Amino acid sequence: MNNLLEIEALRVTFTTTKGEVSPVDGINLAITPGETLCIVGESGSGKSVTSLSILGLLGEKGRIAEGHIRLNGTDLTELNQTQLRKIRGKQVSMVFQEPMTALNPVMTIGNQLLEVIQVHTKLNRRQAEHTVLQMLQKVGIARPEAVMREYPHSLSGGMRQRIVIAIALICEPKLLIADEPTTALDVTIQAQILNLMKQLREERETAILLITHDLSIVAEMADRVAVMYAGQIVEEAEVFSLFDEPLHPYTQGLMRSVPTIQSGAEDRLVPIPGTVPSLTDLPQGCRFQARCPYAVEQCSLEAPSLRQVSAKHVVRCWLPQQ
Ligand code: SF4
Repeated sequence: MNNLLEIEALRVTFTTTKGEVSPVDGINLAITPGETLCIVGESGSGKSVTSLSILGLLGEKGRIAEGHIRLNGTDLTELNQTQLRKIRGKQVSMVFQEPMTALNPVMTIGNQLLEVIQVHTKLNRRQAEHTVLQMLQKVGIARPEAVMREYPHSLSGGMRQRIVIAIALICEPKLLIADEPTTALDVTIQAQILNLMKQLREERETAILLITHDLSIVAEMADRVAVMYAGQIVEEAEVFSLFDEPLHPYTQGLMRSVPTIQSGAEDRLVPIPGTVPSLTDLPQGCRFQARCPYAVEQCSLEAPSLRQVSAKHVVRCWLPQQ
């Protein structure tokens, strides 16, 4: 199947008081329609910057220094903000972590949804209201007419996130980017939101780029997984392959640091020692070397490239067998 999204050799830079840094440094990714790709990694690994760069939301201090982001063949890096605005919400939508900050507190829910339709379609008011009601029902809002008249503060966290998802999906985007969409929610609501995303993916072939640090969500949602560390992809594989045989020491560390169903009360979780290196002070060689239990001399001399270890499994390590 043809790729819907292709990210090629993407490097994003930000200007800081300590100079220019690259929170995303030469990544390649692709997603086909109906596929879910999860990006995992600790804070500071470059996950969110990757997603913001797709939408051209890097702010004044960020820019795409190198590479291409193609959506259905259109290179988004060559578009200006006016052209990108036509794509945001229509072809690509984003669900952010905290629904309260994604919603306008002084606009009714109905008006926030209607505004998106008015910007992206030629529907008249009545048709737009009908579409909004249908979308609210679709995301599991029980009293859609009443909720349209309400303001965000009067809704629960789960309902607010459903509204954010409704706004993201109302124009039937081809790609949904969800950045930690359930982190702020309790587990019951989290399960509902994940089920909703699965349902929409199946019904509409929506591709999903899901950013999370939660490996249980990855196991439930992903077709493929890209593990990011210090701005680079260090491992990418189909989800079963990654969970069965994580090859990069960082991926192995992430797996060891979460409880499993077999974990007993006496079992201790094993954290990854140390922290992600500062982007202004990256080491020569492998960026994970200071935290890696298998580091050898070569690791500090030369940076490893991504290596193909099987048909759909790549890893950035000098010693993939470990
Ligand atoms: Fe560890 Fe070396 Fe592999 Fe880096 S290249 S992850 S330091 S073994």
